[in-house]
Amino acid sequence: MHNYDRTELFIDGQWITPNGTGTVEVIDPATEEVIGGVPSGTADDVDAAVAAARRAFDPLVSVAERRERLARVIDAMQKRLPDIAETITREMGAPVRIAQSVQTQVPLAVARGIADVLEKFEFEERVGNSLVVREPYGVVAAITPWNYPLYQVVAKVIPAIAAGCPVVLKPSNEAPLSTFEFVEAIQAAGLPPGSVNLVTGPGRVIGEHMAAHPEVDLVSFTGSTDVGARVGELAGKTVKKVALELGGKSANVILDGADLATAVKVGVGNAFLNGGQTCMAWTRMLVPQSRYAEALDIAAAAAARYTVGDPWDPGTRIGPSASRSQFETVLGYIERAQRDGARLLTGGAEKIRDTGYFVAPTIFADVDPLSELGQEEVFGPVLAIIPFTDSDDALRIANATPYGLSGAVWAADDDTAIAFARAVQTGQLDINGGPYNPVAPFGGYKKSGIGRELGRYGFEEYLQTKALQLPAPKASA
Ligand code: NAP
Repeated sequence: MHNYDRTELFIDGQWITPNGTGTVEVIDPATEEVIGGVPSGTADDVDAAVAAARRAFDPLVSVAERRERLARVIDAMQKRLPDIAETITREMGAPVRIAQSVQTQVPLAVARGIADVLEKFEFEERVGNSLVVREPYGVVAAITPWNYPLYQVVAKVIPAIAAGCPVVLKPSNEAPLSTFEFVEAIQAAGLPPGSVNLVTGPGRVIGEHMAAHPEVDLVSFTGSTDVGARVGELAGKTVKKVALELGGKSANVILDGADLATAVKVGVGNAFLNGGQTCMAWTRMLVPQSRYAEALDIAAAAAARYTVGDPWDPGTRIGPSASRSQFETVLGYIERAQRDGARLLTGGAEKIRDTGYFVAPTIFADVDPLSELGQEEVFGPVLAIIPFTDSDDALRIANATPYGLSGAVWAADDDTAIAFARAVQTGQLDINGGPYNPVAPFGGYKKSGIGRELGRYGFEEYLQTKALQLPAPKASA
């Protein structure tokens, strides 16, 4: 049985009634109905949560103890995944087939990946006469967005637990309910009080207070580039470490000689995954001029298979945009792209259902790479197709945005694709359809962020490094 009327925050190992009296309503984007709410916390609640986390911080906690804690958390989380999947469908409209797979199984794989890292990690190393030791970084502030609510939280809280760092967590107001269920799993796992604390409320109050808090050692933020820059600015004033996972405008580069049909179909699917609300989505498809017409036909046919509708219908592939504001943002981008001269291949801004924030899967051809649609992140089911003349032109276009999060390269052979990929300024690229890897480092170049999440690289973000210079061995008598 779900509890969507949350009135308490989780601080110092217990559910407490917060100091503030307000509630943040949570709206089902498929029905536009209020389904519940969470407390609108205050700066005082953040202070209490940070103080609890500070008390819980034990830099000498053993690795064996951390492994046991992590195993209990993953076990408790796994038991709740079916419930959490339902909640994600309610709070942000993910179709059930996405909620039960990507939205919940990827976080489980990510968590297991971190547990595996912890099993093997070498915490000490000799460098010349120094003993280099890796220690828990300290108190972590984790601020997350709404698009993959469980994944975003897991990608921060699980490595923090593995590293021995207590966390103060603030999920997005748009989709906070699944986080409460995740925190109940943490509670069931019996971690020491203060290990994980949950504070909800507006980002500009809660998030900013967390980022600026002198007792926070590391702030890990995922969200938009503008807010990430603000978080970095606030964190800089107290010289704390900042990890930023921000936006993207990733290029799917299909070079001459690639398997065009596969590359285009996979590319359309990637752009529309989770209704396009995926930071790593390949939202620009770059195709050779010589095969442009063919590519457009394949893309339009592929898009027709992306059914939009009731997220509870197992046949639905695209649910609603997660919120009214996101819905309006996406429609605005579509309307302006048409005004900018892009050619609408399929979809558009017309209303497709009376209720709910549904957007038709939309593809534009002839997109100017420097236009708004060629440059900015839409965060909806909108794909821009851009022709190129040769591979130099493709590389120039691929790199010509402020972002660098993800992407793909398709070519006649892997070596050609890899050689091209080496010159793309981005944190992650799929080569000829290489599958997602939940332990590969994930993060951005340029305005897509600072730092890496997932696997060993993500784990190391939560570790300090200390060098102990050892004396020269005494000469034997
Ligand atoms: P957002 O508006 O930047 O919000 C992200 C989080 O920051 C939310 O919890 C938000 O709280 C909080 N926040 C808002 N203003 C803040 C402030 N002044 N100081 C501190 N925290 C603040 O992003 P979003 O709309 O939730 O998510 C979409 C964006 O996230 C897209 O740009 C997408 O690319 C990016 N994203 C990046 C990745 C990645 O790994 N690189 C992954 C997913 C999403 P409230 O909204 O609750 O007020």
